[in-house]
Amino acid sequence: MLGWIRRHLGVKLFLSYLVVIVVGTVVLAGAAELAIPRSFNRHMAAMAAMMGDASMGMGTGSSQELGMDLFANFRRAVNEALSLAAVSAFLAAALVSAFVSRQVVAPIREMRAASQRIAAGHFQERVRVGGDLSRGDPDELGQLALSFNRMAAQLEQVESMRQQLIGDVAHELRTPLTAIKGSMEGLIDGVLPPTPETFQDIYQEADRLQRLVRDLQELSRVEAGADELDLRPVQVSELVEGAVSRLQLQYNEKGVRLEAATPAGLSPVSVDEDRIGQVLLNLLGNALQYTPAGGTVQISATQDQNEIRLSVSDTGVGIPVEHLPHLFTRFYRVDKSRSRAGGGSGIGLTIAKHLVEAHDGRIWAESLGRGQGSTFSLALPVLDDEHEPPAT
Ligand code: ADP
Repeated sequence: MLGWIRRHLGVKLFLSYLVVIVVGTVVLAGAAELAIPRSFNRHMAAMAAMMGDASMGMGTGSSQELGMDLFANFRRAVNEALSLAAVSAFLAAALVSAFVSRQVVAPIREMRAASQRIAAGHFQERVRVGGDLSRGDPDELGQLALSFNRMAAQLEQVESMRQQLIGDVAHELRTPLTAIKGSMEGLIDGVLPPTPETFQDIYQEADRLQRLVRDLQELSRVEAGADELDLRPVQVSELVEGAVSRLQLQYNEKGVRLEAATPAGLSPVSVDEDRIGQVLLNLLGNALQYTPAGGTVQISATQDQNEIRLSVSDTGVGIPVEHLPHLFTRFYRVDKSRSRAGGGSGIGLTIAKHLVEAHDGRIWAESLGRGQGSTFSLALPVLDDEHEPPAT
């Protein structure tokens, strides 16, 4: 019985009303018992005095008996009224608790059922939000239902991203694996000659697979925010010089000019040097990959009030405008075969975006179209003594 009561909010509500009514009735009855005799005598005496008839008092003989009779009847009438009030209050408690528990318990039950269905994988599940939303904020239960629906929507989104990711990864793995398998079959069947070129091709595909796996690992780390940023004040020119010196040789080899333009007097930025260096390497690496020999890539820094802007502009293949908003989405490539041939996994810019945003910064791409070159820029907040550096 106790367990049953504990499990039912409606019963608990009813019992709580009942307790209030019982306490109220007992207090009323007790108060009436104590106060009625004295107040009855006082009123009778006042009435007798008013009527000028001493026999109405409670002083003597038969008039005293009459007084007692009157008092007994009066008390019975009070008790009857009290009992009637207690029964009405009991009925009211039953009705009100049934109504309130329907209002409170029904949505909670609905949410419980919905959460069980979500746990079973039905992520499209939502609950009704009670009350009139157009008339301002809903009550606490309505707000709970709204939060529940928001949570369900986010779970649904995460689930669909997870499915998409599995599909994307499978797709990305399939291409190099098919190539490796095809070459191996050719070698086994004797169709492909076991020349150094064949082995080189197989090696390159395996290398591509390894890079893809490494990029995926890196992406999952930055998406989860697994690495703490080691924020320190850094001069922008140091960041630029570091990235340029690491890629200069590759630029020279391909015959692409690399220019750096960092004016003196720029404010320092509070960044994790390795991580922002990684972003710049990625942008400079892409610029090199998508700029033909004879072209130029420029990395420049400017200050705009509280922001430092770092831009990498190239005179390369350019990007059609309709692709610009998607470049930072994982596995997105404008030209899949060209990117793959260059060993690209389509994840580099996604990682860069996460890293820049972890620094409270922004990253974006601009291009006038195919053959018009591209500019990738990132903005980082300048180090300001009055402001806290971004949270890691
Ligand atoms: P990838 O490893 O394929 O280069 P990224 O995420 O670094 O992956 O880049 C995504 C896509 O953006 C590339 O496949 C390419 O189509 C386009 N892209 C990136 N940088 C440039 C650039 N400098 N010029 C032209 N296209 C670019």
